[in-house]
Amino acid sequence: MNISSERAMKPIFEPCHEYREADQARESGLYPFFRPIEAYRGSKVVIEGRELFMAGSNNYLGLALDPRLKEAAEAAVRKYGTSCSGSRFMNGTLDLHEELEGRLASFVGRDSAICFTTGYQTNLGAISALATRGSHVISDKYNHASIMDGIFLARGLHREVTLHRYRHNNLEDLEGVLRKLPVSTPKLLVTDGVFSMEGDIAPLPQLKAIADTYGAALYLDEAHAIGVVGETGRGTCEYYGDSLLTDLTMCTFSKAFGSIGGFVAGDRDIIDYIRHFARPLIFSASMPPSNVAAALEALNIIETEPERIHRLQQIARKMLDGFTSLGFEIGTASTPIIPLIIGDNEKTFMFWKALFERGIYVNPVISPAVPPNRALIRTSYMSIHTDAELDMFLDIAEEEAKKLHII
Ligand code: PMP
Repeated sequence: MNISSERAMKPIFEPCHEYREADQARESGLYPFFRPIEAYRGSKVVIEGRELFMAGSNNYLGLALDPRLKEAAEAAVRKYGTSCSGSRFMNGTLDLHEELEGRLASFVGRDSAICFTTGYQTNLGAISALATRGSHVISDKYNHASIMDGIFLARGLHREVTLHRYRHNNLEDLEGVLRKLPVSTPKLLVTDGVFSMEGDIAPLPQLKAIADTYGAALYLDEAHAIGVVGETGRGTCEYYGDSLLTDLTMCTFSKAFGSIGGFVAGDRDIIDYIRHFARPLIFSASMPPSNVAAALEALNIIETEPERIHRLQQIARKMLDGFTSLGFEIGTASTPIIPLIIGDNEKTFMFWKALFERGIYVNPVISPAVPPNRALIRTSYMSIHTDAELDMFLDIAEEEAKKLHII
């Protein structure tokens, strides 16, 4: 037996050999994932040598391509190098990390903030640091996977952490869960501000009132909200007109900020505790200098160029109205994330393929990222899109959806 067939027989690899779905989708030409982008040209990308209109990026303010961010990142590489070569806890903290944290804390109106290397790690670290033995974490069913994984990590680290999932944005279901728990039990209520797949907004004032009534802390994920909603882009709290609706606010830099990394902000003692107990912060290398500098420059731009945010919000309204009047099912979306809800996986992939062939880049989303039978095409917009490009997209979407009897 040669080495590779010996390896193939090891039981741990059995599921890998049995997994056929991706190959089947590739063979039928309906495999949308891992497509390499060869170049970015403003609101277009080049894939397989063809230019496509990008309606599937989280680069909401176009900052990932902004010359000022590129310059800031390059200057940081020249000054600090390409890696911090260690975790924040040890040799991986730069003066630049602390500058960014101070600026972010004041941007969201909090005492203190701590940055992680990704948004995913921020949720993993903050939730698993706080939810220790005997805690209950209460999470919206549509919350992002990184929140769920933070809870799973907490449960792995500390036995007796209990997870409750309430129906999406359903306050009665949430209260039903909380009512059964003693007031003295440690409780963390977690919600996305803007939901990542359906682009709807959490009812934050009501969530805060319920959290306060039952003694739960409120943790808000603003990945798709900061730089996107609210008059000055300060996110869901600003959208509702009150910057102090949450106990903790997290956000990632991989979307409106055009970088990568994440932060959580709140009261000084809570952030200091997270700093000392979040394993993804302690056991993983810190945000690289280039990304810290890019995030700082993005924050400067978000603070000084609100017209970008207003343009993005105007585009969202145009596309929400456009898709609704064409007869698409868009749920309760009200942000620059607009789902075209189709239901059936195969039809969703066929619609994705038709759009791709017509020069439009969008993302098909199926279970488990959305509930079963709620497959959708996730469209998302950038402030750099022009009205002409958006009208062209609406026309093509209408034509292709009619052919497939989606509308
Ligand atoms: N939270 C939400 C709501 C998200 O949508 C994402 C990313 N899609 C994350 C957290 C994780 O952020 P990142 O990709 O920057 O690690």
